[in-house]
Amino acid sequence: MDLYEYQARDLFEGYGVPVLRGITATTPAEAKEAAATIGSPVVVVKAQVKAGGRGKAGGVKVAKSPDEAEARAAEILGLDIKGHLVKTVMVAEGADIAEEYYFSLLLDRAERRYLAMCSKEGGMDIETLAVERPDALARIPVDPRVGIDQAKADEIVAAAGFSGPDAEEIARLLQLLGTVYEKEDATLVEVNPLVKTADGKIIALDAKVSLDENAEFRHPDHAALADKSAENPLEAAAKAKGLNYVKLDGSVGIIGNGAGLVMSTLDVVAYAGEEFPGSPKPANFLDIGGGASAEIMASGLEIIIGDEQVKSVFVNVFGGITACDAVADGIVHAFELLASRDERVNVPLVVRLDGNNAELGRQILAAANLPRLEQVDTMDGAARRVAELAAS
Ligand code: GDP
Ligand code: MN
Repeated sequence: MDLYEYQARDLFEGYGVPVLRGITATTPAEAKEAAATIGSPVVVVKAQVKAGGRGKAGGVKVAKSPDEAEARAAEILGLDIKGHLVKTVMVAEGADIAEEYYFSLLLDRAERRYLAMCSKEGGMDIETLAVERPDALARIPVDPRVGIDQAKADEIVAAAGFSGPDAEEIARLLQLLGTVYEKEDATLVEVNPLVKTADGKIIALDAKVSLDENAEFRHPDHAALADKSAENPLEAAAKAKGLNYVKLDGSVGIIGNGAGLVMSTLDVVAYAGEEFPGSPKPANFLDIGGGASAEIMASGLEIIIGDEQVKSVFVNVFGGITACDAVADGIVHAFELLASRDERVNVPLVVRLDGNNAELGRQILAAANLPRLEQVDTMDGAARRVAELAAS
């Protein structure tokens, strides 16, 4: 789960990381009031969206009075930044920046450890720096069992080229950020820019934090950080039912058992779709997992048909521990269950059953004679048919 800057800023503050005051606002009038409350000669109005590069996109603006803050907020609220609508701004105390640095700590899954990155050249697009001047970006592995202790912090700042009192202060700050990372079960803590002000203070001026959702059980307080409004309602409904659902852009609904099968189904459907007008593509990804009971199948179908972009649905099941006859029973009962809730499967369904008890499963579906349900025995054939139905 990615946090908004203001949430990450608040977390930082709780661990003693130096940050500037910030107050959120959802209207220009609130922004004016926030600027007056902060009371500094300069404030910065910052778009709160979960996307980087807000500065370049016009989402970060300096204001020298509450009236100016109101005007800047009016410009920023409602902006579309990389597909994210700005609904909230943070009005922050302005910093007199002398230098901009970069620091991040992230999970390096491949190496089974953390990776710290630090540079004296922050502020700009760090991906560009990493490509064009890799030497300017220090990359130091961090042992998760140790974290960022004094020795590691010293190593990181030295590798980035800091020395003297700045090095000492930055090393202190990196240890605090390491504590945030560890205690909050983060997968990313990034500060860009970490600044030195004209009077020599080191401050985290931007804050980006991703939390590990697998560690939710250790952090009941993290639930409050989830942004319900930004969540896709169907994704939220699926999550509530324990289903793994991802909304995509196309028109073919996809239900499968097991993430591997579902992912290859996405590819096969996208490929088959190229043959048809409009090149239909997958509309979503729904993994019903190992046990496709009627209840789960009904929930899955309900979510898929709840997506208005869906024109046809592909149910692709490979029977394993849950045999195909049980899945077929699940589909039949799902139709009944939906009918009893006054809902209908209003789009064509293509079902492909293979694996354990496939033949029995196919017979059950054929006997049930469900409206607008077709069976195709091969994955490629079924993908072609479902794409054709979506295109017609
Ligand atoms: P991002 O573009 O989404 O990473 O947003 P940032 O929060 O990093 O802000 C972008 C840039 O705005 C920073 O790199 C700074 O140069 C500038 N900026 C942000 N806050 C202040 C501030 O308090 N004072 C000044 N002078 N510039 C700021
Ligand atoms: Mn930034």
